[in-house]
Amino acid sequence: MLLDVENVTKTFGAAEERIEVLRGVSLSLDAGETLALTGESGSGKSTLLHLIGGLDHPDSGSIRLDGTEVTTLDDAGRARLRRDQVGVVFQQFNLIPSLRVADNISFQARLAGRSDPDWNATLAGRLGLSSQLSKYPEQLSGGQQQRVAIGRTLAAKPPLILADEPTGNLDEATADAVLDAMLTLVRETRSALLIVTHSGHVAARMDRQIHLAKGRIAS
Ligand code: ADP
Ligand code: MG
Repeated sequence: MLLDVENVTKTFGAAEERIEVLRGVSLSLDAGETLALTGESGSGKSTLLHLIGGLDHPDSGSIRLDGTEVTTLDDAGRARLRRDQVGVVFQQFNLIPSLRVADNISFQARLAGRSDPDWNATLAGRLGLSSQLSKYPEQLSGGQQQRVAIGRTLAAKPPLILADEPTGNLDEATADAVLDAMLTLVRETRSALLIVTHSGHVAARMDRQIHLAKGRIAS
């Protein structure tokens, strides 16, 4: 078992403003497995990904990644987690505006001391970014930026990839091509993939699907 999430709860706000977003979520993922997470807008999908990636703390529950309890890590531990174990493709890309596409793609892998120029070039080619490498993010379309964000995560070959609507800004044909590339690359790196998607078509291409509703997983 690579990832084991048990009974995780998360609430935002205080008093009357309080919303219970996650009310006891459990899920698990094996090494190399691909899992789709679906659910209505506002159901807590991004929140759950942030908790698994160590970007936020749950109120209660346990999240174990390769045996490490994520929920109790200190800042240094969370930084190590993000460097060595888990890569996140953010819904809003979070590219670095001052870096060219090539340097955005290699950024995470360089931080981890695992940057491989041949692999970076392979990624750029398969994601259709080879002619964009010297541009800055602001010079790219939304769909191109999204592909850079995917490339940056794949470049570091993390054991677990968390991808938040990674094809949400692409037209259907491009989304299919990017998903093909992503699934092939994920298999090559033997990474596990937890992908948030609105698309039943995208979800159907994963090994398993789970659905988040009313703060719980309903498969
Ligand atoms: P999804 O990704 O499924 O659309 P989110 O996880 O982004 O849903 O959000 C779930 C709910 O939690 C929403 O009602 C959202 O407004 C709320 N929420 C998310 N993050 C925060 C935050 N940092 N502070 C307050 N409320 C938040
Ligand atoms: Mg979201």
